[in-house]
Amino acid sequence: MARSLLLPLAIATLLTACAQAPVRNPLAQWVPSPNHNARRATLIVVHYTEQESVAQSLLTLRTANSGGRVSSHYLIGDDGALYQLVADEARAWHAGSGRWGTISDVNSASIGIELDNNGREPFSAAQIDTLLRLLDDLCTRLGIPRTHVIGHSDMAPTRKIDPGPLFPWKQLFDAGFGTWPDDKAGPAPPGFDPLQAMRELGYATDEPAAATRAFRMRYRGDASAALDDQDLRILHALTQGRAAH
Ligand SMILES: [Zn+2]
Repeated sequence: MARSLLLPLAIATLLTACAQAPVRNPLAQWVPSPNHNARRATLIVVHYTEQESVAQSLLTLRTANSGGRVSSHYLIGDDGALYQLVADEARAWHAGSGRWGTISDVNSASIGIELDNNGREPFSAAQIDTLLRLLDDLCTRLGIPRTHVIGHSDMAPTRKIDPGPLFPWKQLFDAGFGTWPDDKAGPAPPGFDPLQAMRELGYATDEPAAATRAFRMRYRGDASAALDDQDLRILHALTQGRAAH
């Protein structure tokens, strides 16, 4: 009985201590250095909310709900209003399982941006204007490379389709963010390996059909699982550009 009363007190004391001091590894002697700062994200993941209003999404992103707790760093309304829900240096819960390149814990490495959109309507000009201003701010302030902007579907192609075929990736690229092929690039050479090219871009290709659908949705605006000559040309152009850097 006494133990059961003391345990919550002990936990409360521990939590208070944790809130006041950094957690130290008991295996090591603590010799603190002042030469550090918060870890920074290296990737930005764009989503749509698949909900009907900002008010509904602000609730979902801040509470437990039937699908489990979720959050994102930012939410942009259809009218362009910008909300921040989680600090840039904290780990929000927006990406879930998946992979992009060598990043296997995307939540730990990324900033998540939710766009108020039900998945069936075009994104408003005001919303994309705000997104572009936010991307410029994040890439400048946090040092995130401007090419490192992906969709949720890119890192979780077997589970997710957002931000969907209506998202204006070309407009983002024209404003300096993400990736887009050179329109003047020629056809892929004989023997070109499209799955290898997708892996070079960052796609996990364990399930080639899912990766192909995610790639097609981003660069062609549909979700076909079959690659045509135009896809090969795009993949070749994208990976050639990459090799040239
Ligand atoms: Zn998403």
